[in-house]
Amino acid sequence: MDHQTDPLALQAEALRRRAEGQRIGFVPTMGYLHQGHTSLMDIARSQCDWLVVSIFVNPLQFGPSEDLDRYPRDPEGDAAKCAGAGVDTLFMPQHFYPSDHSTSVAVAGLTDGFCGASRPNFFGGITTVVSRLFGIVQPSVAVFGEKDFQQLAVIRRMVRDLAMPIEVIGGPLIRDTDGLAMSSRNRYLTPERRQRALSLSGALKHMQALLSQRGAGTSAETLLAAGREILDFDEFDYLQIVDPDTLKDMPIIDRSARALVGGYIGGTRLIDNMALIP
Ligand code: AMP
Repeated sequence: MDHQTDPLALQAEALRRRAEGQRIGFVPTMGYLHQGHTSLMDIARSQCDWLVVSIFVNPLQFGPSEDLDRYPRDPEGDAAKCAGAGVDTLFMPQHFYPSDHSTSVAVAGLTDGFCGASRPNFFGGITTVVSRLFGIVQPSVAVFGEKDFQQLAVIRRMVRDLAMPIEVIGGPLIRDTDGLAMSSRNRYLTPERRQRALSLSGALKHMQALLSQRGAGTSAETLLAAGREILDFDEFDYLQIVDPDTLKDMPIIDRSARALVGGYIGGTRLIDNMALIP
């Protein structure tokens, strides 16, 4: 596996490979990798000739009181996991943005609710960094996790709206055996808080069970009330049932929907989501 830290050197290699007709696969991450990340690498690996993974903790997407400085890092462990997943080039930039970087990319509408409502810089930071990463890596195919369901929808919209010639693939959300959605931030959780964090997947599973019982036509409010009973957040952010493509609220569940949940347990931000199928 090659290691690359220089954005323009990586771009030169990407352009050369594209000119040779190679298909470039890309998985962007913030590191502290787990099976959720490596599952995306497996998907990308099967779709490309040259697989690039980036690890960059993007300051633009963190708010002033968020965990940028203490975001977990493990460069050596990450490199071993990438090598094990058959990654060709690991891109860990030291200097990513030009010193006078002054362009931002924003997707309107889809970014207003859920994680965007409580984190004003978040999606602008993500669409800006992903646009620059796409310009550097020149991917034919990019894989993002359904763990960040809203992010996946936002990236798909950006790629469509800006006519970027990139196929975006969503990879399924990977859970620990106890049901907790894998996340780099889970390492912040004490054993007691980790136990309480199971209430996210517990609430979503309970909502699906109730929907299976009641069938198509069940009101969202019935399911949401049941889910809220179970959630054990210190700070509740959102629990909503939406159309999986538009992310618009679905008041009556008469077809497949997606339940999205987010909030804080002991200062750690946790999100999860699940398909709801009548
Ligand atoms: P992050 O490093 O948290 O920015 O995540 C990088 C990519 O991995 C994003 O596309 C995430 O959606 C994806 N990802 C993170 N956790 C999981 C998970 N548990 N299952 C599937 N994909 C994930």
